[in-house]
Amino acid sequence: SLTIGIVGLPNVGKSTLFNALTKNDVLAANYPFATIEPNVGVVGVPDPRLAKLAEIFGSERVLPATVDFVDIAGIVRGASEGEGLGNKFLANIRESDAICQVIRAFEDENVVHVDGRVSPKDDIETINTELILADLQTIEKVLPRLEKEARIKKDKQAQVKAVQEAQAILEDGRTLFSAGIAQGTERAEPLHELHLLTTKPFLYVFNVDEDELTDEAFKDEQRALVAPAEAIFLNAKLEADLAELDEDEALELLQSVGQDEPGLATLARVGFNTLGLQTYLTAGPKESRAWTIPKGATAPEAAGVIHTDFQRGFIKAEVISFDDLVEAGSVAEVRAKGKARMEGKDYVMQDGDVVEFRFNV
Ligand code: GDP
Repeated sequence: SLTIGIVGLPNVGKSTLFNALTKNDVLAANYPFATIEPNVGVVGVPDPRLAKLAEIFGSERVLPATVDFVDIAGIVRGASEGEGLGNKFLANIRESDAICQVIRAFEDENVVHVDGRVSPKDDIETINTELILADLQTIEKVLPRLEKEARIKKDKQAQVKAVQEAQAILEDGRTLFSAGIAQGTERAEPLHELHLLTTKPFLYVFNVDEDELTDEAFKDEQRALVAPAEAIFLNAKLEADLAELDEDEALELLQSVGQDEPGLATLARVGFNTLGLQTYLTAGPKESRAWTIPKGATAPEAAGVIHTDFQRGFIKAEVISFDDLVEAGSVAEVRAKGKARMEGKDYVMQDGDVVEFRFNV
């Protein structure tokens, strides 16, 4: 499955946040026999539709989609030079599908900042610089060979041009993602084989003081620093406290600081989106469940997520939109109204599809 690597300077609250994440580990809750890696937190993507489905179908349990967060320790200035845990750090980032930077915005004189002052802008720059330098090194290693090849093979010229363009952006101190050259887009295609770090989607978690959680002017300022990446604002200590409480107590604590959901829930949802993922829903008396697919997946591909046999033997999918189902109150009623659709193998799955697959075994 796809993973999001959590990075950040020392003392910004990564461990505090990660501990809160692992306390919410849905693997631990739903799959007691799963092996859980110590540096991986599997977080459920909150989806209120599942509870509604469980009500309609009388499901015994609900299973949300999940996002895997990996704690990547060891960013220091000079990581791109292999300093400290530098090499391991970069290798871990290379294996992640998205990069989540934790940025300290909270003030606390008892918690030392590595650079002696709290400055989100500088911290973002410090981390991005290491990633940018690592990408520049990668490019400098392969570009001479690519240029040589392109002199003989004309079809390589477009790739050389794309790599040179990337180099110029990086030399300008910008990540490729922020320049619109994001993994999965057409512009990033010629760079694919270089496995560059900064084409990965970025998201930013600002670890803020509680009063900043509702400070819209402050948050807009931080958002502007990281656009087009998403910014999430939370207080890591508060998240750790929330993870210890039951649902009612947690809600009360959240309301006392002007929030309607835990920051971790927001993080899971935004992270899921950042990875380019979406869900479809299945429901029955045993469980109501959200299944993870890439955006744009077809019905047979979606079936394959449940079981490869479902994809191989795919015949068709009966698709009901969640809203139609809730309005009608039951599958039978949706069918009676003629709103249940039979979709074939070219159907592109839509968010909120409630599906039953028909297949040959
Ligand atoms: P890491 O080095 O990035 O993993 O940071 P830690 O999670 O170990 O946190 C470093 C110190 O900052 C610890 O003493 C935490 O208790 C404290 N800390 C973490 N988050 C917050 C926060 O939101 N507010 C305050 N005041 N302290 C925090």
